[in-house]
Amino acid sequence: MIHNTKNYDYLIVGAGPFGSVFAYEAAKRGKRSLIIERRSSIGGNMATHKEHGINIHDFGAHIFHTDNKYIWDYINQFSEFNGYINQVIADYKGELYNLPFNMNTFHQMWGIKTPEEARNKINEQKNAAKVTGLPKNLEEQAISLIGTDIYTKLIKGYTEKQWGRKATELPSFIIRRLPVRFTYDNNYFNHRYQGVPVDGYTPIFEEMYKSDLIDVQLNTDFFSDKEKYISEFPKIIYTGMIDQFFDYKYGELEYRSVRFESETYESNNKQGNSVINYTDAEIPFTRIMEWRHFDKKGDDGYTILTKEFPQDWDRTKEAYYPINDEKNSELFKKYKKESLKIKNVIFGGRLGNYQYYDMDQVINAALKTVHREFGE
Ligand code: UDP
Repeated sequence: MIHNTKNYDYLIVGAGPFGSVFAYEAAKRGKRSLIIERRSSIGGNMATHKEHGINIHDFGAHIFHTDNKYIWDYINQFSEFNGYINQVIADYKGELYNLPFNMNTFHQMWGIKTPEEARNKINEQKNAAKVTGLPKNLEEQAISLIGTDIYTKLIKGYTEKQWGRKATELPSFIIRRLPVRFTYDNNYFNHRYQGVPVDGYTPIFEEMYKSDLIDVQLNTDFFSDKEKYISEFPKIIYTGMIDQFFDYKYGELEYRSVRFESETYESNNKQGNSVINYTDAEIPFTRIMEWRHFDKKGDDGYTILTKEFPQDWDRTKEAYYPINDEKNSELFKKYKKESLKIKNVIFGGRLGNYQYYDMDQVINAALKTVHREFGE
C-alpha cells in the first residue's frame, strides 16, 4: 500500500497535542503533514464531547494552567477560555478538606489559625517521623512538606491506589506537583493563567487542522504497517509509546492506566464541586468529576458525574501516566539513546518521551521541536 500519496513532508503518529501543534506549525511554514491516529477521535487524551450541553472530558479532567504567557496566548488563539479556577475537595472517610494543602486544610485538620502555628505543627510531625536530609521517596517528601496527619489522611491512600505501588517506591517529584501554601487559598495550581476552553478541547484540534496542508486519518494504526510508513515518509513525528516503537526490545516500560464510569442525573448540582478526591485506600476510585461545574454549562435539569478508577496497564489498555521511578527511568534511557540514532524520526509527547507532561509543557516541547526542525 502506498501511504505517501500527496508527497507529505511529515507523517505524524498520534493526533494529541504534540503532533497536532507540530502539524499546525509545519503547515504555517508551507509543509504538508499526514496525521494518523489509532483511535477514532482527535485530541489524544485532551479529547472532549458534549452531552446535554455539558462538555465532558473523555480521558479525565484537563484544566489548562501555565505561567508561560506565550503558551497561554498560543492556546488561546484556537479557542476562548473561561476563567475556571480548580478548587478540589478531599473526602477522607466522610471528613472534608480543602486541597491543595493550605491554611484551610491546616485549620480543618488541626483547628489552628495562623501560618506560624501550621509551620510548627508540620515541623513537630516531621521531626517525630525522623525525616531528615533529602527525601528519598514520595512518602518522605510528603511528610517533610506537610507532616504525618495530612500524609496519612490525604496522600497515602490516594497515592497508593493511583499508582498501584507503595508511596515509599515512588519518586518524590510527583507530590511536588501540588502546592503547599501558608495562605487561605484553595487554588489547586500556582500558575498565573488557568481555565478550560468554552467549547471543550476537541474544537481546538479541529481549528489546528483547518489548513489544506494537514490531513488526518483516524482508526489507523502505525504498527500495522510500520516499515512501509518509515520508508515512504521523509520524516516522522512519533508520539506513541517509545518502547512499542522499538518492539519492546529492552523490555516494557510501565504505565498506569485509568478507566471511567459516568452517570447522568436529573439535577443541576449533585456533588457541589467540579472535583472531589476520595483519599482513603478502601474506595476504589480516586475522584469524581461533575462536569457542569467546570464551565457552568449544560441543559437545565441534567448533570453528569464521572468516577475515575486507576488500573494496572497492559498492552490492551490505554497508557495514561508514565511511572518515572528508577527502574523505568533507566529503561527509558536505553530507548532514548536508541531513538537518537534514528535521524528521520522525532519522538515527542507524554508517551514518546515517557514524561509526566502537563498540557502547557507538551505544547512548549512541540514548539521547541518545531524551532529545531526549521532551524529557527
Ligand atoms: N495526590 C494525593 N492526594 C490528592 C491528590 C493528589 O496524594 O488528593 C498526589 C497523588 O500522588 C497524585 C499526585 O499528588 O498522583 C499528583 O496529583 P495531580 O492532581 O497533579 O494528579 P493528576 O491530576 O495528574 O492525576
